Amino acid sequence: MTGRTPSPPRGCSTCSTTWGCGRRSSCSARWWRLVADGHEVALHGWHHRNSLRVPPLALHRSLGRALDVLGDAAGVRPALYRPPYGVVTAGTLASARALGLRTVLWGAWGKDWSARATPARVLRTVAPDLRGGVTVLLHDSDCTSAPGSWRSALGAVRPLVAASRGAGLSVGPLGEHGPA
Ligand SMILES: [Zn+2]
Repeated sequence: MTGRTPSPPRGCSTCSTTWGCGRRSSCSARWWRLVADGHEVALHGWHHRNSLRVPPLALHRSLGRALDVLGDAAGVRPALYRPPYGVVTAGTLASARALGLRTVLWGAWGKDWSARATPARVLRTVAPDLRGGVTVLLHDSDCTSAPGSWRSALGAVRPLVAASRGAGLSVGPLGEHGPA
């Protein structure tokens, strides 16, 4: 979220940053469509593993591999890296830096991964942290969370965007406002 986002690209009224894991990013059509619609593509690792459980060299190699696979699939090289579960180690920081990636986290989340999540609950969870410059974490997949939980995030997007605009904020990809 940002108070100084430029106009969204053609074909997309609200753009965001979409995070991909290299292991699941072989579908070029999906990534090309996202890029064509103006969304930002960013890296979430190779596997969806806690960095504390991956030896540094293996982590570095997997990040490089993921960057290649996702970059090839999307046709653009990701510049941002969000480690799974938000676990930042010295190894993640060093590897990301060596690969030219900026490690980022978030400032608000909807806890949409829970089986008990609903769009209304996601909105209530995000609301207290909604402010200019904040990064809101939501998920469009349930591959690492409760089955069907992505529906709670999807249902929260429109009212969240409306609430943000109502508060005088514009909504856009993370790369437009930097980490917050
Ligand atoms: Zn994740």
